[in-house]
Amino acid sequence: MRCRTCGEKAVINMRQHKLALCTAHFLAWVPEQVERSIRRYHMFTHDDRLLLAVSGGKDSLSLWAILTRLEYTVDGLYINLGIDGGIGYSAHSHDCAQNFAREHNLKLHVVDILKDYGETVPELAMRTNRGRHKPCSVCGLTKRHVMNLLTKHAGYDVLLTGHNLDDEAAILFGNTINWVGSYLIRQGPVLEADRPGLARKVKPLCRMYEREMAAYALLQGIKYIHDECPYALGSTSIYYKELLNKIESDRPGAKLSFYLSFLQARRSGLFSPSADERAELVHNCPQCGQPTSAPGLCIFCRMFVNVNERLDSSGMEVL
Ligand code: SF4
Ligand code: ZN
Repeated sequence: MRCRTCGEKAVINMRQHKLALCTAHFLAWVPEQVERSIRRYHMFTHDDRLLLAVSGGKDSLSLWAILTRLEYTVDGLYINLGIDGGIGYSAHSHDCAQNFAREHNLKLHVVDILKDYGETVPELAMRTNRGRHKPCSVCGLTKRHVMNLLTKHAGYDVLLTGHNLDDEAAILFGNTINWVGSYLIRQGPVLEADRPGLARKVKPLCRMYEREMAAYALLQGIKYIHDECPYALGSTSIYYKELLNKIESDRPGAKLSFYLSFLQARRSGLFSPSADERAELVHNCPQCGQPTSAPGLCIFCRMFVNVNERLDSSGMEVL
């Protein structure tokens, strides 16, 4: 297999794009694709203050490297969830994020859930009975809360996440199989900050296959955490990814087409918010100020009614 651009030996064959490339041309191709998505979906410009949620995994660290190469100024946010799972998951992912930031001279905000809120995410899930077996719902709630709060408090214009096409297709598959209209209407490359207090969120890797991002991280020599979160084992999202991989292997390009066709359907008005959804977030939490659906404390703050420490700018370590 030869590189389509220069004829040298190819290192990757992307059947979905009918494209094989050598190392040098693949490493140039990926940032071009990401830049194209940023422009196509009007995600941000070089003048915006950008905050990237960094997990220590291949996608977010590769995205940080790509955006730096494209000369965007992006700070990182790492949230230490306090997950061990017998493999020191949070400690290891924290190291990966921190080392990457140091090596590339980038600014990383660190929010440590145990230090800042007094409990790890698994402990919080146990105490509040919101996840005796898996803390994923508490984890998702916590991450969304912290990301939103820091983006707004620290004056960033846009919050970026490293979701790739495989992630988006799996989420879409789950939302479609259950016909969750309120999620379908909000899924996309850009989620506008349509309520005061909410951050604008974008996903610059939404058209990049997971395999392409793994190859990029490997060829760039990015040191990332290879382990999945221990709680992800056996999750439905992994099951959906496996199903979609089977379809993709028979029909290259199926994942991309599934996602892009959905975006097209959404643009043409196939999904529209109900009156209830439009009126959803009309109150503000008296504790953290974030929008909520009912008067009083938001769901996140209600989990901490007995814990005095609250996240504020002095509670965050900035590297
Ligand atoms: Fe959080 Fe792990 Fe669940 Fe993902 S799999 S939501 S990181 S607990
Ligand atoms: Zn709150």
